[in-house]
Amino acid sequence: MAAGAAAPDQDPGAAVPAARQTILVVEDEPALLRALRINLRARGYEAVTMQAGRPALEKATQRTPDAVILDLGLPDIDGIDLIRELRLVTSAPVIVLSGRTGPGDKIGALDAGADDYVTKPFSMEELLARLRAALRRDGPPPPARPVAIGRSAVDLAAHLATRDGQQVRLTPTEWRLLEILIRHPGQLVGGRRLLTEVWGPAYQDSTHYLRFHMAGLRRKLEDDPARPRHLLTEPGMGYRFQP
Ligand code: CA
Repeated sequence: MAAGAAAPDQDPGAAVPAARQTILVVEDEPALLRALRINLRARGYEAVTMQAGRPALEKATQRTPDAVILDLGLPDIDGIDLIRELRLVTSAPVIVLSGRTGPGDKIGALDAGADDYVTKPFSMEELLARLRAALRRDGPPPPARPVAIGRSAVDLAAHLATRDGQQVRLTPTEWRLLEILIRHPGQLVGGRRLLTEVWGPAYQDSTHYLRFHMAGLRRKLEDDPARPRHLLTEPGMGYRFQP
């Protein structure tokens, strides 16, 4: 008998600690829903699976999930509308699955409040990696240790940025932007979301503010501001902090 071939069907209640993270999965395709349920449970998550949007919304209202994985094409409600409704009841990260490939759908989903986006067909490993990244933002960190941006270091806890050991002065707006991006390492953060969180809902279309202040951050922190490697623009969608 092969060592290490752990039985996948052990009673999970016996081995897994009580505080399992709950993932609400909304997908109307039964085979995919089943694959998601199996993979999430195999990783120790509690998977709550729903085949339609309305009942999923009801579920999320009763008991807020730790994250939501959501198909955009649902039978009873438009996926984008569902994201908006979910955002009224939970701040849990939302990862969108979609067979649609137009950039308009991505922008729509991110603007509605989704945190990330995976196009079908997708690799289960990639989806799970994105889920882990999305869940990190709700965990205890802000990163306790300074984060490296080339030769610069940013310590959110100490509110200190340095470059080659010398302090770099950031404006309050630059700090707010940087903090949101660093708290979502590797994740695309939608432009509207940044504008809303930093300036307020009335500024959702003021993308020039973002361009201006992101340019300032790159100039102060990136080794080569013209070719940034950490503070990245996703054209038409938002920004990403790449550790
Ligand atoms: Ca579907």
